[in-house]
Amino acid sequence: MQKKEVLETIKKLFNEAKLNTDKADRYVELARKIGMKFNVPIPRELKRKFCRHCNSYFQKSNYRIRTRNKMIVYTCFKCRKYTKFKIKD
Ligand SMILES: [Zn+2]
Repeated sequence: MQKKEVLETIKKLFNEAKLNTDKADRYVELARKIGMKFNVPIPRELKRKFCRHCNSYFQKSNYRIRTRNKMIVYTCFKCRKYTKFKIKD
């Protein structure tokens, strides 16, 4: 597979995750595995949509967003860990 195709596949999987909330975590896991296998990083905008510790897809009730010191902190309720991102200015 070419990098572009891999990226398309990753995006598709995230879209599936959005549509199939009960299987969302599986799709995230799959997308990450494919990315790793082909050495294609998950795009920025998608990295914020899941917990990097347990692959939990962030949905309404399974995470919390806080901002602190120019960072956005996502708290995952599944594994209770944080994922931090810098706020772009
Ligand atoms: Zn988690």
